[in-house]
Amino acid sequence: MRLKDKVAIVTGGASGIGRAAIDLFASEGASVVIADINASAIEAAVGELRNAGHKAAGHMCDVTRREDTHEFMKMVHAEFGRIDVLVNNAGITRYRPFAEATSEDWDAVLGVDLKGVFFCSQAAAPFMRRQGYGRIVNISSALGTGAAPHNTAGSPGGSAAYASAKAGVIMLTKTLARELGPDGITVNCVAPGTFLTPISASNRTPDEVEEHLEHRRRNLLLRRVGTLDELASVILFFASDQASYVTGQTLSVDGGRSDRM
Ligand code: NAP
Repeated sequence: MRLKDKVAIVTGGASGIGRAAIDLFASEGASVVIADINASAIEAAVGELRNAGHKAAGHMCDVTRREDTHEFMKMVHAEFGRIDVLVNNAGITRYRPFAEATSEDWDAVLGVDLKGVFFCSQAAAPFMRRQGYGRIVNISSALGTGAAPHNTAGSPGGSAAYASAKAGVIMLTKTLARELGPDGITVNCVAPGTFLTPISASNRTPDEVEEHLEHRRRNLLLRRVGTLDELASVILFFASDQASYVTGQTLSVDGGRSDRM
């Protein structure tokens, strides 16, 4: 039990990667709390977790709204008495060629994917500081670590806002690690490659999703798309005391992106 008696929050935890992390954390002994904007998915996830005997809660929290994030952290602390782990996972994409991208596209993506990480970390940090203990894990992307060919093989192209936000998450990780380290808080980052979740289909038809996955499989050193368990286990590593002497780091979990090595 690597998270026994810990209280772990995952933003965007009602779907995809966040949900996989929530399930794994619960099975490792944590009380888990979902912060998401999808009310029905929160309700379904919390119901399933509680039916399986886990301590779980979930609340609506729009990570782009500073007041929401502060209210959310206060609520979690009042309910569980601690905040040990925060996974900043909520994210959106709006792929559009650079020349056509609107100011609204840019603000929406940067708002969730970068400012949301800032707001949630700032809201959780005071509780972690008082405990002298905390683990923050940020979710970046392979697109935040290097530009890849992107407008072919089922990919719509135009990741300027998303890639900028995800690169920002990596630097935010380093600066938070520096500021929070003296208080016993580690801050690390995971940069996933391709994983099949609802976000993968948000800008693609089903045929384009399959074309995209096939293209990835051919170009990955491991020749296959990852499973959500393979990603959640790395998020767990940073969230647990197995990584107690690691901070400010970004680990790519991408099956070997040969197009960028
Ligand atoms: P997902 O299945 O779409 O899950 C994202 C969750 O975040 C959804 O429940 C979504 O709610 C929620 N959300 C969206 N905006 C929010 C907000 N303002 N406040 C709180 N929650 C919000 O996506 P995923 O694939 O699991 O992605 C999780 C993270 O991994 C993202 O940061 C993504 O950029 C990153 N990532 C994913 C991949 C991949 O291949 N899947 C690769 C690299 C990086 P709704 O359902 O209502 O939108």
